[in-house]
Amino acid sequence: MEPDAGGSLYEVRQKIYPRAVSGIFAKWRWAMVWLTQAVFYGACWLPWNGRQALLLDIAERKFYILGLVLWPQDVFYLAVLLIICAYSLFLFTAVAGRLWCGYACPQTVYTEIFLWFERLIEGDRARRMKLDAQSGSLYKYALKSLKYLVWILFSAWTGITFVGYFTPIHNVLAGLVHFNLSGWETFWVVFYSGFTYLMAGVMREQVCKYMCPYARFQSVMFDPDTLVITYDEERGEPRGASKKGADLKALGLGDCVDCGICVQVCPTGIDIRKGLQYECIGCAACIDACDQVMDKVGRPRGLVRYSTENAVEKHWGTKDIIQHVLRPRILLYTFVLCAICLAFAWSLATRTEVRLDVIKDRTILSREVEGELIENVYILQLMNAGEQIRHVKVSVEGMDGISLDGRSEFTLPATDNKVATIRVRVPMENLKKGSHTIYFRVDSADGEKLGVHEKAVFIAP
Ligand code: SF4
Ligand code: SF4
Repeated sequence: MEPDAGGSLYEVRQKIYPRAVSGIFAKWRWAMVWLTQAVFYGACWLPWNGRQALLLDIAERKFYILGLVLWPQDVFYLAVLLIICAYSLFLFTAVAGRLWCGYACPQTVYTEIFLWFERLIEGDRARRMKLDAQSGSLYKYALKSLKYLVWILFSAWTGITFVGYFTPIHNVLAGLVHFNLSGWETFWVVFYSGFTYLMAGVMREQVCKYMCPYARFQSVMFDPDTLVITYDEERGEPRGASKKGADLKALGLGDCVDCGICVQVCPTGIDIRKGLQYECIGCAACIDACDQVMDKVGRPRGLVRYSTENAVEKHWGTKDIIQHVLRPRILLYTFVLCAICLAFAWSLATRTEVRLDVIKDRTILSREVEGELIENVYILQLMNAGEQIRHVKVSVEGMDGISLDGRSEFTLPATDNKVATIRVRVPMENLKKGSHTIYFRVDSADGEKLGVHEKAVFIAP
C-alpha cells in the first residue's frame, strides 16, 4: 500500500495506561509472579554439596541441577524437556487458550512488575495520564527519574541473576565489586538487563502484539470447546448506561453499562466486547474488572467470563462446559504428556553415572606385536557424572583370546572424566583378515556390574 504524502507506513503507537485491577484472577496472576520470581531470583543462591545447586557451567560443559550432573552427551534429556514444555503448551492452550501468556510468560510477569513500580511511583491510570499530559515540571521529572532508576536497578538485578546461573552467583557479585568480571559476563549482565528494561518497560504490549509468534499460531490449537475469555453479547447488548435496579427491559438495554473499565484494565488496550482477538493475552483482567462493575450495579457476575464458543451459543451450564472441555483430544494429550513425563523421570532415575566413549586411534594402525598377537589401539573417554569418586575397571570381549595390554583400572574424580589409551591384543591364529566387532565394558573395580559398554571395531591386517 502506498503511504499518503507525508504519512507513515506504520500506525502510531497509542500509549496504554492499564488501570489497576483486583479480583480472583489478579490474585492468580500475582501468585504466578511471586512463584516464578522466587524461583528465578532464589534458585541461584541454593547451595548443594559445596557448590551452587543450579549451575549451567558452559566453560566446563557441565550442567548441575541439584544432585544431577548433565554432560554434553545428555543433550537427549534437554531435547525431551523441550518436548515436554512444547506439549504442555499445546495441552494448556487446547484446554483454556492463552493460559501461558496470561499468567506465566516472562513478558507478562515482568510487565506486571514494571507496572507495579510505575503505579507505586506515578499513581494509577488517571494520575499517570495527567502526569504525561503535563508540560515539564520539576515534580514530573523527579517522578519519572525515580521510576527509571527503580526500573534500571531491578533490570540490573535481573541481569546479574541471569548470569549467576552460568557463573556462580557469588563470583559474579565479587567480580562486580572488584571490577574484574570477564568480557562475556559483563556483556551478558548488560545485555540481559537492557533486554528486561526494553521488553517490560518500553515495548510491553507491542511484544505480544507484533513480535510474539505464539499469538499468530495459537488459534490452530483452539476449537469450539476451548475455554477463552468471552463477552456474553446476548446478555450484554444493547449496551448503555443504566443505574442499579433499573428496569433494563423497559429501557431496552442489556447488562453492559458501557463503562469501558474492561478496556481500561486491558494491558494490550483491546475491547473484549469486539470478540476474540489475537491481541488478547488471556490475562483475565477484564473478567475481574467487569465482575466488580456487575457487583456495583447489582447484576450477576460473568458478563465477561471464561467460556467456550459452544457454551455461549448453546447456553451450557458449568457442568456441560467441564464435560466438553475434558474431550477425547484433551484426554489423549494428557495421557501422552503423562507417559512422556514418567519415561523422562524413569530415565533420569536409572541413568548410569559412569559413561564411556571409544575412539579408534587412527595414528596407530593395526600392527603385529611380540607373541604372534595383533594389536589395535583405542582412546577411551571415561566419564563420571556422579559426585562420588569412582574406581573402575575396563575389560574387553567379543573375540577368542582378546585381552588388554597395560593398565585397566582407573580412578575417576567426581563430575570429571579421564582419557586413557588402551591397547587391545588378539592372537593371530584366531583372526581372519578384516574388521571384527568387539565390546569395551566398564565395571566397578570392586566387581560391581555397572552395565556400561560400548561397541568398537578391531581391524586385522
Ligand atoms: S466492564 Fe463490563 S459493563 Fe463495563 S463496559 Fe466492560 S463489559 Fe460492559
Ligand atoms: S481482553 Fe481481557 S483477557 Fe484479553 S488481554 Fe485484555 S484484559 Fe486481558
